[in-house]
Amino acid sequence: MPPVAYFPADYRSGRAAFRAAAAAAGARLTSHMAPSTGPDGKPLHTDVAVIGAEDAPHVLVCNSATHGVEGFCGSGIFTGWLDSNADARLPDSVKVVLIHALNCHGFAWLRRVTEENVDLNRNFVDHSATLPANAGYRRFHPLLLPDRWDDQSTAPMIAEFERYSARHSPFRLQCVLTAGQYEYKDGIFYGGQQETAARRRFLEIIDTHASKAGHVLFLDWHTGLGEYGAAELIGQTRPGSAHGDRVTKWFVTGLTSTKDGTSSSAPVSGTIGSGLRRRLAAAPTEVTSLTVEFGTYPPLDVLMPIIADNWLHLRGDPGDGTGRSIKASIRRALYPDQDDWKELVWMRGREIMNQAVEGLGSL
Ligand SMILES: [Zn+2]
Repeated sequence: MPPVAYFPADYRSGRAAFRAAAAAAGARLTSHMAPSTGPDGKPLHTDVAVIGAEDAPHVLVCNSATHGVEGFCGSGIFTGWLDSNADARLPDSVKVVLIHALNCHGFAWLRRVTEENVDLNRNFVDHSATLPANAGYRRFHPLLLPDRWDDQSTAPMIAEFERYSARHSPFRLQCVLTAGQYEYKDGIFYGGQQETAARRRFLEIIDTHASKAGHVLFLDWHTGLGEYGAAELIGQTRPGSAHGDRVTKWFVTGLTSTKDGTSSSAPVSGTIGSGLRRRLAAAPTEVTSLTVEFGTYPPLDVLMPIIADNWLHLRGDPGDGTGRSIKASIRRALYPDQDDWKELVWMRGREIMNQAVEGLGSL
């Protein structure tokens, strides 16, 4: 199959292709139903495909659609990898767990957030403790939800972004808007006051498939940051640390860290990787955790459709002309439906998958 054909047109076709490829590869498949339904009124599922010995000591966990609409990328890569590697033998010591559409609600509705309007990658905080504060976000919040959505109504917001960027820097603006906030449930990058259904689903999957592992390598597949079609492997890792050295050895290039400012991501709170580490902290399991991020378009071209989509589901109508145009723009911002982008993403994505298996197999 040509690689571009692995990338789906929507959540439903992505799910069907993933399940078919998993079955053909002899994977063990399970499904987890979400508490919400899709735009077609039908149930939504997260699907899990497992290949390799159940009790293999090393487990590669690959997750897609933490940010719903970003799930096209992971869906295509996982399906393609299953399809094109069906004959390749995994090392005996490695099991691969592929999670298709963790935030299936966001994938189906072309939203970055969950059914609770929560950014799942900010939701993995300890809700019994004091939640992280983001005072810088407060000044922007009232501007993000105008009464209607057009050039005139969004002009004050854009002017404020420009003022703030000129005074501080564009990256500082990105940090304030995207770091995560826990105060405004109608805001963007909202981490939630409690755990989401998708978070519970993820931890259940980890408990079932990875809690007895000696080593878990976790790759969480995203889009929207960095150069068009290029991959960045983002970790909270530093060269010289055991984690950093291991990652460098296995993946060789493209490594960046939010800890030393080399990453195109702002430092963020409540990530899924941090949740995984906490879950496995009591187990004798070593964890290597990375975000795989594929670039699409410049930061503000990605951010504006995300802000518009938040407005749409709170104040607008996804079915009218404005709604349809916002939906098309968020889909394009996080999934450039172009053959050149898909080819770049597939080539690098497959390489990362194979490096991950090989790295774990070398332990
Ligand atoms: Zn993301």
